[in-house]
Amino acid sequence: EDVILMENVWKAYPNGVMALNGIDLSVKQGEFVYIVGPSGAGKSTFIKMIFRELKPTRGKIFINNKNIANLRERQVPYFRRKIGVVFQDFRLLPKLTVYENVAFALEVIEEHPRQIKRRVMEVLDLVGLKHKMRSFPDQLSGGEQQRVSIARSICNRPPVLIADEPTGNLDPETSWQIMDVFKRINEQGTTIVMATHNRDIVNKIRHRVLALEGGMIVRDQQEGDYGYED
Ligand code: ADP
Ligand code: ADP
Repeated sequence: EDVILMENVWKAYPNGVMALNGIDLSVKQGEFVYIVGPSGAGKSTFIKMIFRELKPTRGKIFINNKNIANLRERQVPYFRRKIGVVFQDFRLLPKLTVYENVAFALEVIEEHPRQIKRRVMEVLDLVGLKHKMRSFPDQLSGGEQQRVSIARSICNRPPVLIADEPTGNLDPETSWQIMDVFKRINEQGTTIVMATHNRDIVNKIRHRVLALEGGMIVRDQQEGDYGYED
């Protein structure tokens, strides 16, 4: 029932910095978890571990009961396609339309063309952007680009959606819209892990809060608050 299970996870960067110091964690299916903490606390490192952007120096990380710490390099791309990831800077392909940006994620896993079309329209509808399917990224507002990026991240029906500061480049109004989209996705059963500095959102839309400091979990609170003044 654990979607994410970490056992004694450590991460040392090559320069010797210990970014994570013995993390133990269990996240169940359907949970929504905020990762908070000061700059340098290890939030990005933690997030990168979950989609195998980084490998732990020590410890085990089970995603859907599979230990990804010892995945072979050639298995990594296959694993990543099963995890949805959303970044602060959207990372859309500028020469592809909205439709194509989302479809691309399905084409690489060789879905049937008819299925692809149906799924793309479904996820664009979910994020409220069906009417923009022929637009290019630079014709969209920041919030719209982030919604395309979210549509792309969930089109493979990942069990986990990881978001690293998804509202970091957005104004408050737009940030709330993004949270509405995450709410809908979470209600469909997708586990969401979101690193954020957005105190207003964390304090208003209550979910489990994990606070990291110095690479350790210093607080794990159901319906927690942001807890920092920054
Ligand atoms: P946060 O996302 O909370 O700001 P990070 O995970 O980015 O924290 O960083 C945790 C610690 O690891 C910091 O001390 C940071 O300087 C260090 N760090 C991050 N990335 C690297 C890297 N590529 N090489 C060396 N040290 C790094
Ligand atoms: P916001 O103020 O919400 O960040 P913008 O003012 O950038 O948004 O855009 C408002 C609307 O105009 C959006 O729906 C966006 O898609 C559309 N838009 C913005 N720039 C262009 C453009 N160059 N071509 C077509 N549509 C655009």
